[in-house]
Amino acid sequence: PKYVYDFAEGSKDMKDLLGGKGANLAEMTNLGLPVPPGFTITTEACQAYLKSGREPAELSAEVSEHLAALEAKMGKKLGQSDDPLLVSVRSGAKFSMPGMMETVLNIGLNDQSVRGLAAQAGNERFAFDSYRRLIQMFGKTVLGISGERFEDALEAAKDAKGATNDLDLDAEDLRALVETFKQVVVDQAGRPFPQEPREQMDLAVRAVFESWNTDRAVIYRRQERIPADLGTAVNIVAMVFGNLDMESGTGVAFTRDPASGSQGIYGDYLQNAQGEDVVAGIRNTVPLADLEQIDKRSYGELLQIMQTLEEHYLDLCDIEFTIERGKLWMLQTRVGKRTAAAAFRIATQLVDQGLIDMDEAVNRVTGAQLAQLMFPRFDAQSAKSDVKRIGTGMNASPGAAVGKVVFDSYTAVKWSRSGESVILVRRETNPDDLNGMIAAAGILTSRGGKTSHAAVVARGMGKTCVCGAESLDVNTKQRIMRAPHGIEVHEGDVISIDGTSGEVFLGEVPVVASPIVRYFEGELDPEADDADDLVKAVDRIMKHADGRRRMSVRANADTAEDAARARRFGAQGIGLCRTEHMFLGERRQLVEQLILADTDEEQERELAELLPLQRADFVELLEQMDGLPVTIRLLDPPLHEFLPDITELSVRVAVAEARGEKREGDLRMLQAVHRLHEQNPMLGLRGVRLGVVIPGLFEMQSRAILEAAAERIKAGGVPRVEIMVPLVANVQEFETVKQDIIQVARDVRSETGVHLEFLVGTMIELPRAALTADQIAEAAEFFSFGTNDLTQTTWGFSRDDVEAAFFSAYLEKGIFGVSPFESLDVEGVGELVRIAAEKGRSHRPGLKLGICGEHGGDPDSVHFFERVGLDYVSCSPFRVPVARLEAGRSMT
Ligand code: ADP
Ligand code: MG
Ligand code: MG
Repeated sequence: PKYVYDFAEGSKDMKDLLGGKGANLAEMTNLGLPVPPGFTITTEACQAYLKSGREPAELSAEVSEHLAALEAKMGKKLGQSDDPLLVSVRSGAKFSMPGMMETVLNIGLNDQSVRGLAAQAGNERFAFDSYRRLIQMFGKTVLGISGERFEDALEAAKDAKGATNDLDLDAEDLRALVETFKQVVVDQAGRPFPQEPREQMDLAVRAVFESWNTDRAVIYRRQERIPADLGTAVNIVAMVFGNLDMESGTGVAFTRDPASGSQGIYGDYLQNAQGEDVVAGIRNTVPLADLEQIDKRSYGELLQIMQTLEEHYLDLCDIEFTIERGKLWMLQTRVGKRTAAAAFRIATQLVDQGLIDMDEAVNRVTGAQLAQLMFPRFDAQSAKSDVKRIGTGMNASPGAAVGKVVFDSYTAVKWSRSGESVILVRRETNPDDLNGMIAAAGILTSRGGKTSHAAVVARGMGKTCVCGAESLDVNTKQRIMRAPHGIEVHEGDVISIDGTSGEVFLGEVPVVASPIVRYFEGELDPEADDADDLVKAVDRIMKHADGRRRMSVRANADTAEDAARARRFGAQGIGLCRTEHMFLGERRQLVEQLILADTDEEQERELAELLPLQRADFVELLEQMDGLPVTIRLLDPPLHEFLPDITELSVRVAVAEARGEKREGDLRMLQAVHRLHEQNPMLGLRGVRLGVVIPGLFEMQSRAILEAAAERIKAGGVPRVEIMVPLVANVQEFETVKQDIIQVARDVRSETGVHLEFLVGTMIELPRAALTADQIAEAAEFFSFGTNDLTQTTWGFSRDDVEAAFFSAYLEKGIFGVSPFESLDVEGVGELVRIAAEKGRSHRPGLKLGICGEHGGDPDSVHFFERVGLDYVSCSPFRVPVARLEAGRSMT
């Protein structure tokens, strides 16, 4: 294969091969924008390297060829002593992984060429500043030296000067610093800093390849569900210099506000700076709008380019640029990350601007973003006045977070594992803080702007973040944060941060429902004149998604209250009502008596007592869902789940015996518990098996359901009942139970005189059921895939046991990209779903198919269910809007 592409050879659609950065550099080059020349080494080269531990044989020659072309274009050679060509070696994977991987700038400098550079630029300070940066980045990235070694030396040099700003160091200081850095390399790496320019470049390329597998990159990919085998491309770009003088600088910009979506001038600029200086919070940046005063011509050109990019990409773009002595250079662009709210706003704005259509708008937002908008937020008016505001920073990533202050990633993870909500407080974050950021409810930094690492990563994760709260002095070593007026905040103190306003409060601020939830609840009218534009945007997108989707969306709801909420959220029925919840609470005693019953008469008596209670539950549920289908599952869990714990009970009996007391009740109970005890309850006496062994139980439940339906009909309602038998493995066991249900229906009909229509169907949650679905479909009138159990029984593991035991190891080693309980395992479990759907429909055309596992609310899984042609998905009431949106998106 061809491993190297010149920028002019690529395009934005080649992200798989050239990575996002490379593809977009190519696109900008071909748009005629001012991009420094360069070339891209493909992801395939990286994959080959990672597989074999060696660069592919052809790579070196191809690189030489492109390097020669670059040198010819620039009229100088890499590292040439009197006038060096310098390059950056930049990582860039298909999906952006901000700050996760490595980049080395100023490649080509050495003890000779640094003088050549100084002479050419007429600026010695600049040349040595560039050289010390090269050694620093190269040392860290390629030679694996801790960055602190260099940072400490830099700090020491500043201290010696009494300087606080890196600009206060002059050429002399920087020349000395270069020597110090070179010594650090010798001490730490056991080898001198390589002077040969091509060797520098080749080692940097290899380091970028290897950075694909750093811990933090692995964690990030897992979090973002990015496949582990994509590899990164490497971009070699001729250097342009923002650190030449005050007429130079570097910045980042967005074509729209990534937090709100509003159009305007958003970004940060830093004079006399290079590369990461802007986002690292080394010095304070100025708002992009100030560039107009600093360099009007470049500013004008930048605005022009931003408009070109928006119209070309038809979306919000973010940009990295550098100005070298008044000449603007574009170093990167991509369709920018944005907050959930901005995603909805921008999508509809672009429709209104005539740039995209509604189908595309629906595509531009995700169910995950909608879910984020449904999180609660702070009550702006009343609540905040009761607590003390201790600072304000940038509203970097919206939302409301309350939690205990922690100052490091380790503590964040530890405390959150034990169930605490924590806020990770740092001066600024870096990629090593990633684990803590994932664990924390929110992130607070005292330095850095909206484009700092904390802000970018938090927005990507949808995590609340306030950054650059400068009035707060964060001391992570002492584990203390000092606020004005002598206020001290210690580890473990509760603070509240508002990612929408940027405010930081000491203490707990109460949270309120999000406007989007209130909109779904019907409390906010999107048509009202004063309606929030976010509510309007969400409404437009939801309406379009609803119009597009083929699948209907139901809810899993066990109570009338849940059913009512689900209906307000747009549920078109209940896909799963679990009846076991109706056996708990004060009814538990009745259930215990039922299980302990020695004779049939006793058993019947207990069942008769349960009947009216169950019936009343169903009447309410059917009333809430009047006119819509309601699937009610007969009892599923093993009976001993309703009995006391075996150990506790044994102890109680033993203690009583030791005291010489005899407790008849406890003894009898203990015998029953022993009788019902199972080694593998998950695979034991449950579901349809209960119905076969204790027919009276399912008969009572069916009677309660059908009597409730009759009652509703008498009251003028339209109940649409679907009785569902769980854990069926073969058609005979289903038939057995179905006959009982039909008999009950006949009885209820003749007793009530009401003509009842209802369906009897089954869950498909065992591989055998899926494989014999054609037979089962002869008897069953509908299938509902219980993908939780189907996942357990297909993989042969119990969710309750394995998640803690080995899932983290599996995720770490990349055996799963994501837990199969979270997102459906399409290849295995999904294949069973596909087979069952096909076989079922082949024997009963029009067989109704649904899914009621937790996957019903998972975006990726919803798209799969659309592909296999299910009629509906069912999920928890709160996920219903997410499923509606994703079902719509699966059609566009
Ligand atoms: P990241 O993916 O982490 O943003 P980049 O590869 O974009 O890393 O590079 C890091 C920084 O260095 C960015 O600020 C970028 O603009 C700057 N940079 C990269 N290449 C060059 C170059 N050829 N000239 C000047 N600055 C560069
Ligand atoms: Mg970049
Ligand atoms: Mg089940």
